[in-house]
Amino acid sequence: MTSCSGGTRSIQLSYGRRPRQSTTDACRGYGKPMDLSVVFLGTGGSVPTARRATACLLMRVGGDRLLFDCGEGSQRQMQRSTGLVAVDEIYVTHYHADHYLGVPGLLKTYDLQGRERPLRIIGPPGLEELFKALRRIVGRLSYGVQLVELDEGDAVRHEGYEVRCFGVDHQMRAYGYAIVEDERPGRFDPAAAERLGVDPGPDFGRLQAGEPVSGSDGEVSPGQVMGEPRRGRKVVVTGDTAPCEMVRLAAHEAELLVHDGSFADEEIDRAAETGHSTARQAAVLAREAGVRLLALVHVSSRYDIRDVLAEAREELSACEAPRDFDVVEVPFPERGAPRLIENGARAAAQA
Ligand SMILES: [Zn+2]
Ligand SMILES: [Zn+2]
Repeated sequence: MTSCSGGTRSIQLSYGRRPRQSTTDACRGYGKPMDLSVVFLGTGGSVPTARRATACLLMRVGGDRLLFDCGEGSQRQMQRSTGLVAVDEIYVTHYHADHYLGVPGLLKTYDLQGRERPLRIIGPPGLEELFKALRRIVGRLSYGVQLVELDEGDAVRHEGYEVRCFGVDHQMRAYGYAIVEDERPGRFDPAAAERLGVDPGPDFGRLQAGEPVSGSDGEVSPGQVMGEPRRGRKVVVTGDTAPCEMVRLAAHEAELLVHDGSFADEEIDRAAETGHSTARQAAVLAREAGVRLLALVHVSSRYDIRDVLAEAREELSACEAPRDFDVVEVPFPERGAPRLIENGARAAAQA
């Protein structure tokens, strides 16, 4: 299941993928965009409130559905917005209860629905131990659950992207995750291809897929008609963390950074003591890393969110504090900045 390359352990998906995904992947070489969006299902701090559930993000990457943390009530948060999503994988950042208590209920509901497709749960070491306890609650399931404990620097490989984990600075061993899309082919220049005597049609597609074709003066290689490869997109999720260098590196030029913003300026000492960040610290880090949009989560319910956000925006204007059911769409860099759609998960469900 695992393979090694360049010092980074890469973990290959080994179970059934839906045909819809391979269609999406096959189209990518031809410049059709892979959808990438983040649904904020739980944006609250350690304790759920009437308005904010505990940590849970749903990442939609092409046809894949990945959950990052699964706090209490995550399945109900889905039911209230996207509908219950049969996720492919659950990534847990660390084993504080506000980040995993929703897992047993979700597993049980999938079982009652007769799910057959295996589910993979991924996290730092300690996952197997945690599941010894959770299995007593969950009981037998109609589908397989595969537990994967990652070492720092491991990457879970998918078609067209990978999910890399990195260590963050919290009260216990905790990981952030970076979703890193593969480099995309450069832009195709149809006029250049025609000048070299390539007929518009299937040969254009072959060139864009990386195959040489015949032109009027011999073979035309893709390099003659394609621009420089373009960087893929990157979305980084920190989980709970104090500001730290690993996040700064992982988030370098990310389209979207979802960062712990637990505290306001006035509680900067408390943030340090508890392994969390102030909103301003997250914003400074995001600015230094060249992040295009910062989304603050895990904000303590003691604050008026507008005050906390104002502090962060003094450092970085491209900063939001999404509420539950908000969505951030992440377009390709050349098509603009990531965009917050307020209540987007519910609006789409009602449409
Ligand atoms: Zn937490
Ligand atoms: Zn925590």
